[in-house]
Amino acid sequence: MNFVKDSVNQQPIVDTVFTIVAKAKEAKEKYGADQVVDATIGSLYNEEGQLVALDSVFNSLKNLDNKVLAKYAASFTGNPTFRQKAYDWVLDGNSHLEHEVVATPGGTGAVSMTIQECLDEGQTVILPEIAWGSYALMAQMHNLEMAKYSLFEGDHFNIASFKETCLETMKKQNKLVIVINDPCHNPTGYSLTHEEWDEVITFLNECSKTHAIVLLNDIAYIDFSSRQKEAKTYFGQFDKISDNVIVVVSFSLSKSMTSYGLRCGAAIILGQKKESVNQVKIVFEKNARATWSNINNGAMETFVDVLDNHGEEYDQERLKYVKLLKERGDIFTSEADEVGLKYYPYKEGFFVTLAMDNETRDKYHEALMANNIFTVKVNLGIRVAICSLSVEKTKGLAKKMKDILDTI
Ligand code: PLP
Repeated sequence: MNFVKDSVNQQPIVDTVFTIVAKAKEAKEKYGADQVVDATIGSLYNEEGQLVALDSVFNSLKNLDNKVLAKYAASFTGNPTFRQKAYDWVLDGNSHLEHEVVATPGGTGAVSMTIQECLDEGQTVILPEIAWGSYALMAQMHNLEMAKYSLFEGDHFNIASFKETCLETMKKQNKLVIVINDPCHNPTGYSLTHEEWDEVITFLNECSKTHAIVLLNDIAYIDFSSRQKEAKTYFGQFDKISDNVIVVVSFSLSKSMTSYGLRCGAAIILGQKKESVNQVKIVFEKNARATWSNINNGAMETFVDVLDNHGEEYDQERLKYVKLLKERGDIFTSEADEVGLKYYPYKEGFFVTLAMDNETRDKYHEALMANNIFTVKVNLGIRVAICSLSVEKTKGLAKKMKDILDTI
C-alpha cells in the first residue's frame, strides 16, 4: 500500500558523503587525527581543523534584538532591505537587466523552486554530468527527466556537448531549463572564461528564437573565488540575453556568510522584459508561500547588518580564507602536476576532483580508505575537499594519492 504519491521513487537516499565522514571519524578515533587525511567535509575549516564561523557574521546575529529574531519576515519574497542588498552584493553593479529577488532557504531553495516551477512533470532538465548531487534528487522528486552535458573537452568547457544536449532536448519540449554551476563549480573548481560565457549566451539566444530559455546559474561558492570582484563581471554579459531568455541566479548565504544552518539565500531573476521577470516572480512567490512561507528573519537582517555596518571586517575575514583556499589548492594541484596525478581543470573554490572512470574510482576509493585517506566519490572522479584540509595535511597528499593509484 502506498501512503506516499504513487509516482514517487521510494528508495532511501544513499548519502555517500555522510557515510564516509563517519568512517573518517572512526579512523581518527582509532589511529589518531594526525594519521588520517579527512578530505570529506564540504564546509570551510580553519587550519586547526575547526568549522569556520565568521565573527563578523555571528557577532552581528547575536547583537540583533530578540524581537527581530522572533519576527516573521515582512513578505513571502523576503524583506525588501535583504532583497536589495542581495541584488547589490551579488551583481555588484555589473547587470542592467530587469530584476526581482525572492529570498529562499539557502541556495537549495532557489534551485529547487526554479526546477519545480519552470518545468512540467515529464519534461527534461539539463544538468552538468559531474555535479552537486541534489540537482538529480530535485529532478527525481519533481518527476523530471535529466539530460547531462559533459563538462570538459581537455581543460576547457565542453561547449560542443553543451550545445548538443540543448539541441536534443529542444526536439522534445518547448522550453529549456539549464543548470550551470559557475564560478567555482562543485566539485571540480572550474570557472568559465568570459569567452566561454559569451559562447553560451550567443547559443542560448539562438535557441530562444523557438524556445523559452531559463538559465539557472548556481553561484553558491562565488564569494570564495580567488578573483573576488572580477569573478562577478561575467554578469555583465547577461545584458546581451534575448527577450526569450530568463536567468535565475541562485545565491547561498551558507557559503558567503559561513551560515549553513541559518538557511538563507536568494533567487535573483534577471530578464530584458519586466513582464517576463514578473511572471517568474509571481510564481516563485506563490511557491514560497506554499512551501516554506517565510525566510529566517534573523538571517536576512544579519546579512544586511554585516554589509551595512561591518563590511570591512567581513571582507578581511573572508579574504583570509579565500587566500588560504588558494594556498591549499595551489599546493595540491602543483604537487599533483609534479607526480602526474590527473585532476579536472581546477581554478578556484572548495574542491579539487581527480579524473577517472567510475570503475577505477570505486577501487581507488577503497584503496585510499585502506590507507586512511578519506575522500568522496563523485561521477567520474574522486572529490578532495581542500576547503576542510589544512595546509599541513595538503602537503605531500598528491604524491601519496598517486602512489596508491599506481597500486590498483
Ligand atoms: N549549490 C551547490 C553547488 C552546492 O554545493 C550547495 C551546497 O552544498 C548549494 C547549492 C546549496 O547550499 P545551501 O542550500 O546550503 O545554500
